[in-house]
Amino acid sequence: MGAQGEPARAGCGGAMIVWAAGGTGVPGKERVYLLRQLFGLLVPDMYASAIGYIDLDALAQSGVEVLIFDLDNTLVPWGSDDMDDEVLQWFRGARRRFRLGMVSNALTERVQYWGDRLGIPAVARAAKPRRGGYREILEQMGECPERVAVIGDQMFTDVVGGNRMGMITVLVVPLSRREFIGTRMVRCVERAVLRLLVGRGLTRRLDGSEGEVHG
Ligand SMILES: [Mg+2]
Repeated sequence: MGAQGEPARAGCGGAMIVWAAGGTGVPGKERVYLLRQLFGLLVPDMYASAIGYIDLDALAQSGVEVLIFDLDNTLVPWGSDDMDDEVLQWFRGARRRFRLGMVSNALTERVQYWGDRLGIPAVARAAKPRRGGYREILEQMGECPERVAVIGDQMFTDVVGGNRMGMITVLVVPLSRREFIGTRMVRCVERAVLRLLVGRGLTRRLDGSEGEVHG
């Protein structure tokens, strides 16, 4: 895609750091601003109790036009070759309204399989939270980061990676508890951080459901 992608991105402005916007000089907002500085890249702009519950109207109203998905435990259970009917229905609704792409840390064969099956461009072995995979998918799609939302189940890969790109970030509860042992340990930290962020009003819920926020 290299040189081909350049003209399409030539019009991209500087990436907007959405989560930091409005944090200066507003009375009553200083405490929130300090916490955002403290947690920085870990703060998702929005969160939802499952991908199928994400309110597409709310996303569109936030100015989002492009959705970049994580694969494992976001669109499908970890390592699975099946997609839940509910998620598939939601995905079809999303496809009618947004341009879609996928960036995954999983192996090429698996990511290509799902990209082809869903009919969306996909980048594998992205090593998120590194930005290379996101840059590659934006180049393929001819998009700028400004109107893109990253949707994923991991704070330390999807949210940090999306925030580093200046894109809107949406954290979802993982579809299954089956995953790498290292990831399972990180979940404890994620849950604690998310509870704190939600309690302080630092991230906004993107679905109408109540109850446990994460995991
Ligand atoms: Mg994942």
